[in-house]
Amino acid sequence: MDQQTSTLAPPDAPRRFGFFVDGHEMSAGSRAPMLRHSPAHGVPVTEIPQCDPADLDAAVAAARGAFTDRRWAGLSGGERASVLLRTGALIRARVDEIAYWETLESGKPISQARGEVSGCAEMFEFAAGLARSLHGDTFNNLGDAMVGLVTREPVGVVGIITPWNFPFLILSERVPYVLASGNSIVVKPSEFTSATTLMMAEILTEAGLPDGVFNVITGTGPTMGQALADHQDVDMLSFTGSTRTGRAVVAAAGASNFKKLSLELGGKNPQIVFADADLEDAADGVAFGIGFNGGQCCVSGSRLIVERSVAEDFAARVSAKMAKIVVGDPLDAATQIGAITTDAQNRTILDYIAKGTEAGATLVCGGHALDQGAGQFIAPTLFTGVRADMAIAREEIFGPVLALMPFDTGDEAIAMANDTRYGLAASVWTKNIDKALAVTRRVRAGRFWVNTTLAGGPELPIGGFQQSGWGREAGIYGVEEYTQIKSTHIALGKRDPWIA
Ligand code: NAD
Repeated sequence: MDQQTSTLAPPDAPRRFGFFVDGHEMSAGSRAPMLRHSPAHGVPVTEIPQCDPADLDAAVAAARGAFTDRRWAGLSGGERASVLLRTGALIRARVDEIAYWETLESGKPISQARGEVSGCAEMFEFAAGLARSLHGDTFNNLGDAMVGLVTREPVGVVGIITPWNFPFLILSERVPYVLASGNSIVVKPSEFTSATTLMMAEILTEAGLPDGVFNVITGTGPTMGQALADHQDVDMLSFTGSTRTGRAVVAAAGASNFKKLSLELGGKNPQIVFADADLEDAADGVAFGIGFNGGQCCVSGSRLIVERSVAEDFAARVSAKMAKIVVGDPLDAATQIGAITTDAQNRTILDYIAKGTEAGATLVCGGHALDQGAGQFIAPTLFTGVRADMAIAREEIFGPVLALMPFDTGDEAIAMANDTRYGLAASVWTKNIDKALAVTRRVRAGRFWVNTTLAGGPELPIGGFQQSGWGREAGIYGVEEYTQIKSTHIALGKRDPWIA
């Protein structure tokens, strides 16, 4: 079926998946099924097993065995690169299929899902180059009797816990980089969106990844996620999710084996708009920055900080843009915002909208659920008259809700942008390079966009300041994150004896 042109519909019956250990799909057997309903259509679409602790032990043992016998870590970078390149090609060949299941489980628009999956292929292709170029240092300045080597080695068994907002993309921002240096992996995807992670396992195996190097355990966070974080034989954990769960993961690492952690957490990201910006471009970018994925992005631009002289005009421009966004069935190629992914998230967003109104902010547009016959949808929402102490200005809403606050001076805009416990991303809109650079230098955020927003790709790293996380994913930094450094002194010639 040509999914680009045909009208797509949910499946007649939910597709059943197993989990994946040591190169094989394991059937669900008597494990309790987790039935996932499409948040846009209300019908069951996938059935995934709830794994138990013995399944996790088997997955970690497979990953440990594969790491210890060096079936992957012992290959040359070139050999690993070949597998990563084949993976990229196989992802490209299955873009429509992967995007379809991603859309069904997450509610994101199919056109967006297709773009994301294609971008994932690029991650593998880029990391293939890094597998070949990763190297250490030599110290040739230690005198004629000594040479020093600094080598990069894989960390070992890496656990990966992912959230539901970008199931395949967030996985692909980690897996190729983790594999590039020779690690083994156990993934625990979100219980709401596990299907495409299981497809990744099939694809990696078909691409020639040795058995045991990539394993997937499915189940809820408090059970399987917590057990992975607690596990004594996992060397490192890459966690992406809420700051609250991130704290639990840090505690688990400390209470178990001090596993190394990489954390990508929440954000309350500022969009700073100066009066000298191209206001039409900025309004479009700001509406995109909060509308994309229904605002369910860790990097959504949810705090709109606008120079007072243009604030009213800018609010009108943004609200005009928001009114034109196409919200609806995510299987329709014309849809720009699909469903809110989980019931709990839907309630959270509507609660925040109510809190904004109760606190005295002015609702300019949206502010309500949209009835599409089935599923859960929320209209893109803009509040003005927002004070810095309001919940809608301080807390991550993770929905299409934008809070506008005016500023008078550049210093004030920077102070407002920094008035947060987070530090994931920020955007600035101005045609004045001096202002743009002053802002990018002084605002604490791991990712910055100037006259654009939400741009990304495999080359530039991802990660946060402050309570948005630890470490970096993607780019050369993303590979280095999953290595540890070893230093080796090599003595040359006859030893100068200690004992005469
Ligand atoms: P979440 O923290 O509820 O869940 C994330 C993952 O952790 C899921 O797989 C879940 O099953 C698991 N989990 C839950 N409890 C656990 C526990 N006690 N121990 C171990 N694992 C556990 O987050 P979510 O609701 O799935 O995703 C939304 C959040 O993720 C938002 O706060 C968002 O900002 C953040 N996020 C951050 C990034 C980033 O790159 N910084 C990217 C996407 C999402």
